[in-house]
Amino acid sequence: AAWLALLGGGAFRYFFVRRSLQASEAATRRYQQAFHFVAHEMRTPLTAIQGSSELISRYNLPEAKRRELSDMINAESRRLARMITTFLDVEKLSAGQMELRLSELDLAELADACCRRAAPLAEKKRILLTNRVPEQVRLKADAELLEYALYNLLTNAVKYSPAETEVVIGAAAEDGAVRLWVTDQGIGMDESEVKQLFQKFYRTKRAEQSGETGTGIGLSIVRQIIELHEGSIHVRSAPGKGSTFTVVLPAR
Ligand code: ADP
Repeated sequence: AAWLALLGGGAFRYFFVRRSLQASEAATRRYQQAFHFVAHEMRTPLTAIQGSSELISRYNLPEAKRRELSDMINAESRRLARMITTFLDVEKLSAGQMELRLSELDLAELADACCRRAAPLAEKKRILLTNRVPEQVRLKADAELLEYALYNLLTNAVKYSPAETEVVIGAAAEDGAVRLWVTDQGIGMDESEVKQLFQKFYRTKRAEQSGETGTGIGLSIVRQIIELHEGSIHVRSAPGKGSTFTVVLPAR
């Protein structure tokens, strides 16, 4: 009996250690993939900036062309800065170094600002973006972070939906809480994918095959933001039918 127990204990340890090793290897692999992706993504705007500034300094270009190139330099360097900010924010959030700056917000206004920002992306795919957030839903939250979270959910809904579908953003005030949701008619996910969704660098196969680029970190930031607000986020999804992301926040 003692030998059997020893053997059983050894086998358990062996499989347990192997499983956690595999999990950490998978995390490292995802991290490396994301790192390569970011390095690659950063190279594109950098090349554009380099090329355009060289053209400006080397040739005597007409005014319109110079302006076009300098606009491009500006836009691309802003894109780079945004990418860097996002990455730094994730690190700060993960390390618990980010503090909330709470203020009273009007949710319809916030949703409207997000819809306006996401409109060009939606228009490209002829996706109808509908804001159904009723007036007078107010809450205390960090405006910048909440806008970041909502914008992320909206752009995901647009990214992972086929052309000519609809994305709806809605909200309701309940006692002591505010419920906010984003619904799409997109590629969706199955149950096992939903379970892994908020892990850093996780992307579903369907998302990778969709041709949409991504890093798989947006949702992990969204969840951290919502949890910092003492709220929660839930997902209901069906492959090929669509997804609904629901955020519940205390109204404070
Ligand atoms: P990214 O979009 O950069 O890949 P996110 O962290 O925002 O990263 O999302 C992680 C993954 O979750 C996506 O790659 C995709 O697989 C899945 N996902 C997120 N939102 C949706 C959605 N609305 N419909 C289907 N899949 C989604």
